[in-house]
Amino acid sequence: MKNALAAQQIFSLIEINEIPDFEEYLYGNDPIWIEEGTQFNHALIEQRQIHASQIKELRDLIIDYDIPDYPIIFCQLSNMLGATYLEGDVRWPLMFIDSLKAESPEHFRETYLHEAAHLASNGQDHDFAFAVTNNFLRMKTGLLPSDSDYDHRMCVLDEGQSLTEFKILSALIASMSIKSSWTLENTVGFATYVGAKLYSEPVTPNALAELFDKFDRPSCT
Ligand SMILES: [Zn+2]
Repeated sequence: MKNALAAQQIFSLIEINEIPDFEEYLYGNDPIWIEEGTQFNHALIEQRQIHASQIKELRDLIIDYDIPDYPIIFCQLSNMLGATYLEGDVRWPLMFIDSLKAESPEHFRETYLHEAAHLASNGQDHDFAFAVTNNFLRMKTGLLPSDSDYDHRMCVLDEGQSLTEFKILSALIASMSIKSSWTLENTVGFATYVGAKLYSEPVTPNALAELFDKFDRPSCT
């Protein structure tokens, strides 16, 4: 694995100066709404996508911290820094990043982890499973858990627990998973399970520890 990675051509962000508009990757002229049936230009995407391990500023995340090595399309996005389009017809995990909008290499790395959390948790929205996955990836690489309300906005129920409690819970699960050397898949599975539970009842940190111990996860190979 490491030899294969070593053989790849490595790009730095500052060398990536061909940054077309997002529309270039779509068939047709209606890029306003991406939904089931939106057709991406797969041939062009396959030709231009660059894996995270090929980007100088992201490479250590994959090699040293075992973060998934997703491919990236660099392009100009009208109002976002990064995006995934899981409703579209790209059948492999792919993210779009507008690197021109990143304020610093650190900001770019956090954006990669955020989009990777969307891909790994199979969710477009910022639901509980996403929030845990994002924190898992962040904390694995030495970052603090996210304090962004945006990253937790779909967690809030009409009644029950507060946004702050959801933030604490999502960071707690991430931290327990890392301490127990859980895989990303197990963490996403547990986060999805707890997320579904939260829609019907509150979950306290104590109850969480018990659920965590009992969670029937597939054994690692
Ligand atoms: Zn997002």
